[in-house]
Amino acid sequence: MNRYGPYLPALKNALQKLDLWRSSFGDEGIGFDLPDPNELSLILETLAQRLEGNYPFHHPQYAGQMLKPPHPAAWLAYSLAMTINPNNHALDGGPPTSEMEKECVGMLAEMVGYHDHYLGHLTSGGTIANLEALFVAREIHPGKAIAASANAHYTHSRMCHVLNADFIEIPADRNGIPDLDFIEDHASEIGTLVVTMGTTGLGIVEPLSEMKSLADIYGFRIHADAAYGGFFSLISDKLPSHRHWTFLSECDSIVIDPHKHGLQPYGCGSVLYKNAAVGKYFKHDSPYTYFTSDELHLGEISLECSRAGAAAAALWTTLQLLPLTGSGLGNILLHARNAAIRFSERILENSDWELFMQPELDIAGYFKKPAVLKLSELNRVNRTVFEAGMKDKERGFHLSLFKVPADQFTGLFPEYLSDTPAAIILRSVFMKEEHEGFSNELADRIFSVSEE
Ligand SMILES: *Cc1c(COP(=O)(O)O)cnc(C)c1O
Repeated sequence: MNRYGPYLPALKNALQKLDLWRSSFGDEGIGFDLPDPNELSLILETLAQRLEGNYPFHHPQYAGQMLKPPHPAAWLAYSLAMTINPNNHALDGGPPTSEMEKECVGMLAEMVGYHDHYLGHLTSGGTIANLEALFVAREIHPGKAIAASANAHYTHSRMCHVLNADFIEIPADRNGIPDLDFIEDHASEIGTLVVTMGTTGLGIVEPLSEMKSLADIYGFRIHADAAYGGFFSLISDKLPSHRHWTFLSECDSIVIDPHKHGLQPYGCGSVLYKNAAVGKYFKHDSPYTYFTSDELHLGEISLECSRAGAAAAALWTTLQLLPLTGSGLGNILLHARNAAIRFSERILENSDWELFMQPELDIAGYFKKPAVLKLSELNRVNRTVFEAGMKDKERGFHLSLFKVPADQFTGLFPEYLSDTPAAIILRSVFMKEEHEGFSNELADRIFSVSEE
């Protein structure tokens, strides 16, 4: 039951080892003015109590947003490295964790099929990673637009605003697939096309294969936003979208968030570029950060400066245990996907419920049918289920609400009267491997609450 407790001796052990290293410099700087352990213990107890105000992110009854606690290996490594607090902005800020970052980036590059001449680094998250990729997009095609589908993360249009780059929103059909004819019609205006490999809403994998063909014909670039879905490439042979994943290695840039499906604490995204030559856009001449080596500094290829070296240590340690293979980290994603499939089957078997669309990854969208088939009723009924689940601690559940434009919804379910601008359905993110064993129980709980 205890996720972290059993590893405290391991942490203590490693801390003692580091303490020896610290004291080898002399006693100064160790233990000066440290707080009384008993006093700190009381404050921590108060903190623990306040943290209980969270939803149970660790428990499979929580299937709401993209949230879960990190792997114990990541927690241990982060805690340990953080007592040194290296800064991966520059090699001088933390030589060992910078090395680990490069090794992690190498593993990510191999996962996506980048081999030579790639460039990449960790970031503090997916938003900044995408900003960087879009910055490079703008530098390569100044004056041209960046295009992304209506289902892309909202950050793309906002970051285009920040970058003062034109943004084109590509309409999506009722299945969430971007309109390829629209892309062709606007091809001459597009410099870079964003393809989302796993949308944040329902985990839709956009048709990279066809979008890449258009890029080849019309000469625009492709940026893959795989912040959420990137690690699913480890099990792409088991996904309906299999043929699209094989084109990942041909994208010009890719964003993947280890703090989403890589079991990491927040503060760990990544961006990779197929062609290392884009490094030239980051050129700067800082007089104070670099002095010890001629090697490429991570800070020279990044818009961010200070970044936690501990994040690289945590990812590196996790990947020692769970390598980027189908049987390593991929196995965890397979359980997550199985959970979504099993849960969707339960929805399909129940005539009071409807599946919004078949899950592509591990996110399910679904709704309870109202007695009267109009959107306002649908919204009311599903909101009620959503709220009722959060009231019971032991037999409860945590879902999220997902807004679908009315015309998209009625395109799929024409029997509904469209009397409000949007349909509100339920959404579950089955990110935890424990979800696989719990998806039946979760369906039972949801069904029983919704019958009351
Ligand atoms: C989560 C997400 C982002 C934003 O990443 P953060 O790490 O939250 O900043 C961007 N794109 C997609 C597809 C995402 O799922």
